[in-house]
Amino acid sequence: MSTAKHYTGLIDRYRDRLPVSASTRVISLNEGNTPLIQLQNIPRLAGKEVDIYVKFEGLNPTGSFKDRGMTMAVTKAVEEDSRAIICASTGNTSASAAAYAARAGIKAFVIIPEGKIALGKLAQTLMYDATIIQIRGNFDQGMNLVKEVAELAPVTIVNSINPYRIDGQKTASFEIIDALGEAPDYHCLPVGNAGNITAYWKGYKEYSADSDTHKAVTSKRPVMCGYQAAGAAPFLAGHPIEHPETIATAIRIGNPQSWDYAWAAQKESGGWFDKFTDEEILEAQKMLSRYEGIFCEPASATSVAGAWRDIRSGKIPEGSKIVCTLTGTGLKDPDTAIKQCASARTLTIEAELDSVKRAILDHM
Ligand SMILES: *Cc1c(COP(=O)(O)O)cnc(C)c1O
Repeated sequence: MSTAKHYTGLIDRYRDRLPVSASTRVISLNEGNTPLIQLQNIPRLAGKEVDIYVKFEGLNPTGSFKDRGMTMAVTKAVEEDSRAIICASTGNTSASAAAYAARAGIKAFVIIPEGKIALGKLAQTLMYDATIIQIRGNFDQGMNLVKEVAELAPVTIVNSINPYRIDGQKTASFEIIDALGEAPDYHCLPVGNAGNITAYWKGYKEYSADSDTHKAVTSKRPVMCGYQAAGAAPFLAGHPIEHPETIATAIRIGNPQSWDYAWAAQKESGGWFDKFTDEEILEAQKMLSRYEGIFCEPASATSVAGAWRDIRSGKIPEGSKIVCTLTGTGLKDPDTAIKQCASARTLTIEAELDSVKRAILDHM
C-alpha cells in the first residue's frame, strides 16, 4: 500500500509558513503544485545558452494563479465568520473568488468592467453562481468602489489588498525553490495590480530563511523583472494611468494597488520594469504555443515577451536560469486566440478519401 500523502492544496503543504492553525477549516480545491516546465525550443530560437522554465499557473483549479491567494483569503474570511466576499476584477479574480465561495458555501459579489472580460472567465463566474455587478467603468474604478462599499456592507474584500492573498500567492516561490533546489537567477512576470510580484518577492525572501529560526538557509534570490502592456504601464510612466488599454485584459490596470511593494521588489532585487505592445505580447503567446505546445492567455505571455527581449539583448546574460510565470491558461480567452489565427491553415474539403490524401500531401 502506498504511504504517499494525497495532495490537498498549498495550505496543507506549507502550513508552517502560513497564518493558519490546526483548527482552521481549510477551503481548498487542491490548488498549487503547478508544473515548472523547461522550454526546449525557444532558447534555441533566441540563439542563447540559457535555461528558461515556465511556472504554468494556468493549471490551477480555475485556470489562473489567483487560486493560490483565494484559498487563503476565503479560508480566513470563513474563519472570521464572514458570510460574503467581494472583489473588483478583470476576470480571473472573479472566477476564483466565485469558485472558492461556492466551495465554502458563502456568497460572492464581483465587480467587473462591462464588455472587457474574456469569455472563459465570464462563463466560469456565471457557472460558480457569483452575483456579477458589471460597471460602466474600468478595473480601477471598480477597485475604488469595492473599498468604499466594504465600509458600508458586511463583505470581505478578496482583492490582493487582502494580505492573505499575498500569503497564498507567495507559495509559488516556495514551489520553484523546491523544484530547482535554489532560486533562479531571474524571475519574469506580468504586472497588473502588482500583487503577484509582491507575493513572489515575499516568498523568495521568506523561503531563504528557516521558518522557525528565521536564519538564512540560502542567500540566493532572483532579479525580479516586471513586464507591463504598453497601454497600461504605470510603472514605466512613474504614475497611475487614467485610461489603461491593452488586449491583455488581465493587466488592463492603471492604478496598481501594490505600488510601493512592487517598487521595493524591483529595488531590493536589482530588477527592472519594461513594457510591450499588444503585438509583441500576442507574438510571444503564439511563439509559446507554436514552439513549445504551451497555451497561456495574452497577459501571461508578457513574461515571455520580456524574457525574449532581455535574453536576446544580453541584459539577461548567457548561463542564466530564468523562470517566467504563466499566470493563466489560454482557454480563458478563446476570442483573442481565434482572431489571432485568422490566416491559419484551416482546409475545407469534400468528405472523401482522395481529397483528404491530397490535403495531406500538399501540406507536408
Ligand atoms: C491577475 C493577473 C495578472 C496580474 O497580476 P497582478 O497581481 O495583478 O499584478 C496577470 N495575468 C493574469 C492572467 C492575471 O489573472
